[in-house]
Amino acid sequence: MKLHTRQIRATAFFCLFTLALSAQPNRWQQKVKYKMDVDMNVVTNQFTGKQKLEYWNNSPDTLKKVFYHLYFNAFQPGSMMDTRSLRQGTIQAGRGADWDGRVKDRIRNLKPDEIGYQKILKLTMNGRPQKFEVLETILEVQLDRPIAPNSKVTFDMDFEAQVPLQVRRSGRDNPNTGVRYSMSQWYPKLCEYDYEGWHPTPYVAREFYGVWGDFEVNISIDKSYILGGTGYLQNTAQIGYGYEAPGTKVVRPAGDKLTWKFIAPNVHDFMWAADPEYKHLTRKVRDGIVLHLLYKSTASAKTWEDILDNAEKALPFIDKTFGLYPYKQYSFIQGGDGGMEYPMATLLASPGAWLHEWMHNWYQGIMGTNESLYAWMDEGFTSYADDRVGQFLDNKTGFAQGGNYAGYFSLVKSGKEEPLTTHADHFNTNSAYSAAAYSKGAVFIEQLGYITGAKQRDEILLDYYRLWKFKHPNVADFIRLAEKRSDLKLDWYKEYWVNSIKTIDYAFDSLWEEAGKTRIRLKRVGMMPMPVDLQLTFKDGSSEIHYVPLDLMYGTKPAEDETTRKVYAAWKWTSETYIVETNRRLSDLSVAEIDPSQRMADVERKNNRIKL
Ligand SMILES: [Zn+2]
Repeated sequence: MKLHTRQIRATAFFCLFTLALSAQPNRWQQKVKYKMDVDMNVVTNQFTGKQKLEYWNNSPDTLKKVFYHLYFNAFQPGSMMDTRSLRQGTIQAGRGADWDGRVKDRIRNLKPDEIGYQKILKLTMNGRPQKFEVLETILEVQLDRPIAPNSKVTFDMDFEAQVPLQVRRSGRDNPNTGVRYSMSQWYPKLCEYDYEGWHPTPYVAREFYGVWGDFEVNISIDKSYILGGTGYLQNTAQIGYGYEAPGTKVVRPAGDKLTWKFIAPNVHDFMWAADPEYKHLTRKVRDGIVLHLLYKSTASAKTWEDILDNAEKALPFIDKTFGLYPYKQYSFIQGGDGGMEYPMATLLASPGAWLHEWMHNWYQGIMGTNESLYAWMDEGFTSYADDRVGQFLDNKTGFAQGGNYAGYFSLVKSGKEEPLTTHADHFNTNSAYSAAAYSKGAVFIEQLGYITGAKQRDEILLDYYRLWKFKHPNVADFIRLAEKRSDLKLDWYKEYWVNSIKTIDYAFDSLWEEAGKTRIRLKRVGMMPMPVDLQLTFKDGSSEIHYVPLDLMYGTKPAEDETTRKVYAAWKWTSETYIVETNRRLSDLSVAEIDPSQRMADVERKNNRIKL
């Protein structure tokens, strides 16, 4: 999702990626293969579905039950999502009530033909009927026989569903854009089982987590509808609508409906959208990758169409900085209620969030981090990447720090901050969730560059893609590869920044001259320790960098530029002060500044600079 905009730019750097020799970790993964046939009635907004799900249990565990998500059931009066939203409406946070402006009390007011539901009509495993229980948005299935480790079973399910009036992310007849169908979270989706066990997270707000696998989805719908979504359309010559190869004569089968046949390899979800008024544009951005744009608003047509130009321009930079885009298509689709990411596609209410949602494909789509547990590793990393690519498109380099640092600082000031380890649904306020996941998460990456050096941080991001793509990495996985790449211990950075809400504040304690040399006593005021870059600028215009590593790092970052740098013995984290020294006289000194790059998220920057 997109929440923030950014303004200010910062330090300039760019670097090349050097290939490391280590191999991908071999953590086990479950695997799915879905084949779904869906028949949509655009008058009743109901559809029937047949789902064949092949499930590989690659875990060392015997599974006695399985769980599915039934997301549409959240859109019923009295649901957990409704209850939670009404509660948030009574909490004041920031500028007003803490409830999501798109949800508010809208679920409470849905009429029977406006609610969403997913009803399971039949469920078998290897042909044998299974006992199941619907727990609102979770389906719990007690298996008649357990699934042994390293074995495969096949579930067959018949279901029917009603598409809710669009309240949040998915639904029909979006009140703002008029898009008929935004079909995310639309099918019974198997919950993920990983090294932490089952993840049957009730749907109350956010976020998503799924099993890697292959999808084959056949959607029968009124002939006048144009679709977009995850995956590759197979029967383009029967469909047309801009999907057919140039020069192909489109031959549609007889009847009122068309069946759209999609496949999507190696994804953890499948989204689609449909509207009879979509305008569909395509852009081949390189051999093997086509971008699709589906939108219906005419007022901002130019802004929508600019997406394709900008995306084409940005892709080489993105590939080089964050890793190669691995799929054959990506679709920017008008729909939903803001911006929301899905594998190979996004739903956008307006064109502005296109870049943020696209960059989600690297973190939500390709890494597939458990967003409920590590929302910040998706939203924060995405916000960071969005910012870097935005800078590139503005012909700038580096990271525009303004928005994300400011967002984090105001979170600290609000007094409502909770640790990044908080489950996305369980933050006390939506506002603290957003500032933590987006802003504090993005600062995590930029500030990592302060600790390791920006060049090393960029190499870490590429290692992350290379080592953990399609593997659901967690924060410990990220920190370990960052340690290996930087040759620094970084566990302390995780403990403080992710597991705690302790803050950083360094300051000047005192300056004095002794035997013709200037001594400066630095002070750690905040409880989170950090290495310190100190810049001294002299009246003759020259400057020196004084670098004090933190003892917990067991190393030093390499020099980041050509300025003279003096490296000190490590600052022990238990010590509150540290004295540095220059051979120049105090009267020569013009400015002393802690972290002139402002990448360290020092919550009190007023005491970071002294002008003499
Ligand atoms: Zn996002």
